[in-house]
Amino acid sequence: MTEGGSSDDAVTIVEVSPRDGLQNERTMVSTQTKARLVRDLIGAGLRRVEVTSFVHPRLVPQMADAEAVVDQTGPHDAASLIGLVLNERGAARAVATRGIEEINYVVPATDSFGRANQGMTTAQALEVGAWIGEQVHGHGHRFSVTVAVAFGCPYDGDVSERRLANVVSRAAELAPDELALADTIGCAVPADVRRRVTQTTGTWSGPLRMHFHDTRRTGLANADAALEAGVRILDSSAGGIGGCPFAPGAAGNLATEDLLWMLQRSHVRTVAPIDAVRVTEIGRELCTALGFDSRSAIGSAGVFPGVPSA
Ligand code: ZN
Repeated sequence: MTEGGSSDDAVTIVEVSPRDGLQNERTMVSTQTKARLVRDLIGAGLRRVEVTSFVHPRLVPQMADAEAVVDQTGPHDAASLIGLVLNERGAARAVATRGIEEINYVVPATDSFGRANQGMTTAQALEVGAWIGEQVHGHGHRFSVTVAVAFGCPYDGDVSERRLANVVSRAAELAPDELALADTIGCAVPADVRRRVTQTTGTWSGPLRMHFHDTRRTGLANADAALEAGVRILDSSAGGIGGCPFAPGAAGNLATEDLLWMLQRSHVRTVAPIDAVRVTEIGRELCTALGFDSRSAIGSAGVFPGVPSA
């Protein structure tokens, strides 16, 4: 990792534990606990938080209280709250919710994952995305598009760079404010990340965000490869919790405290200072509430040397 750098090089962490982190958990978490989690994360310095997803409560019961979570947390002066949507109905709910500033729409890179995740092929999701983008921008919100299974698919296996390039170029036509590549099942290695980031930035000049899962313990190495390739926006989840109900075998997200520790020890700044010790505590508390030990390396080992180096 390149050390230091100007403030233009500052990294933005998008905290996804309230959404990607919790959506796969069977232990039902109360709305109050979710709202406190969001407030705690913002208090620790996180400036963008994906707070919920607007999906059918029967499919993802943990997210059934989406509107209530937003009601109890936003709008927030210090941070931008993000809602994930998979279809028109979700987008309509999200734009009607006071407090959500950013809407993140998922475009699956494969038809098989798309059918399982949101009942749509890639082409159908792109078509629906055009309508959603117009709605979101029409309501004055930020619109981001996340390309799911951008590295590999639980049903189809490897996703070729050619296929990804095609999906990315069509996703870019939706005119999002930000594009993301998601390693939904955690199968990427750093060499894949370098190639796919370079390929993507060859055709997409807007902000690029990367979303990693640590399923095969390559999350932090992949984040480092993305940073080296010029990416400045990364998703992560306190406590390393996370998964996808429609991606069998996917484990937790890259842990926020692990990512923060690497950034801070490398003297790479975040857009606002983040208290790594506090985030580690939040991750531990969250894992305890869910009934397991912290899934992050730093949650187990502790921050070294124990004081945030800012
Ligand atoms: Zn994910």
